[in-house]
Amino acid sequence: MSRFADKVIVVTGAASGIGRASTELFAEEQAIVAAVDLDGEKLHQWISTSGHKDRIHPYVVDVTMSRQVEEMIKDIAMKFGKIDVLFNNAGIEETDSVTNTTEEMWDRQMTVNVKSVFLCSKYAIPYMRQNPAGGAIVNTGSIEGVVAEPNGSAYVASKGAVVMLTKEMAVTYAKDAIRVNCVCPGWIETPMAMRSIDLHGGLEAMSPEIRRLTPIGRLGKPEEVGRVVLFLASQDASYVTGATIMVDGGYTAI
Ligand code: NAD
Repeated sequence: MSRFADKVIVVTGAASGIGRASTELFAEEQAIVAAVDLDGEKLHQWISTSGHKDRIHPYVVDVTMSRQVEEMIKDIAMKFGKIDVLFNNAGIEETDSVTNTTEEMWDRQMTVNVKSVFLCSKYAIPYMRQNPAGGAIVNTGSIEGVVAEPNGSAYVASKGAVVMLTKEMAVTYAKDAIRVNCVCPGWIETPMAMRSIDLHGGLEAMSPEIRRLTPIGRLGKPEEVGRVVLFLASQDASYVTGATIMVDGGYTAI
């Protein structure tokens, strides 16, 4: 089954982790994917080894820069004729307490994790409105968008903002047949999570803690998030909008 044959999909943070896995899954289902990332070397290197490289088109863009985002979205719409799906996934994690967080750290988190969602949506929605079938936006939140952890200040605040911006866009653009949903990953085995696990002594040392906090008892895989992203982006989710979907192995059910 290919739910995305000739759909035009934009994925941000596509060079790594959840973005990369989702891009592969979209391309496997015959989509045309604009794979967006700041890290051009990693993006090009990976695409050159992908089995779907003819369907994946690299865009080396900083999604916090308004002009770059505007030009990128315009280029994608002109080149491929439309934009059907936007997956706002690029993000960074720099956690510390409020008292230890510098203004620069705070601004960086909010700009990369929240302003990028605003900018990409702002420029993509006018094109989605032109589609008779509308469009779908999926944003990457986090378990930390709905529950706090100590010393998470700017990251927790940024992901909470993504959850609420999702709801606002869902209610505003429902009339334009644009659905907007948020996927909230728990601990997923990506370079971002592994950096944090390494800071806490590595995977072996962290395993008892991961099992205690996560009923499923293991880290998630990027494609386990990607499959939920594809569901939300597809017509299978035609009556789902404004939803916050946890993909966390039960972390937030405890
Ligand atoms: P990752 O570090 O593997 O990938 C993130 C990608 O985003 C990188 O390729 C990076 O270059 C790109 N990026 C960062 N800033 C950018 C910018 N300004 N412009 C363009 N690209 C930029 O991380 P991941 O784990 O795949 O994370 C993806 C998303 O999932 C993030 O929003 C993250 O907060 C969220 N998340 C991850 C986990 C987890 O456990 N891995 C848990 C909850 C939420």
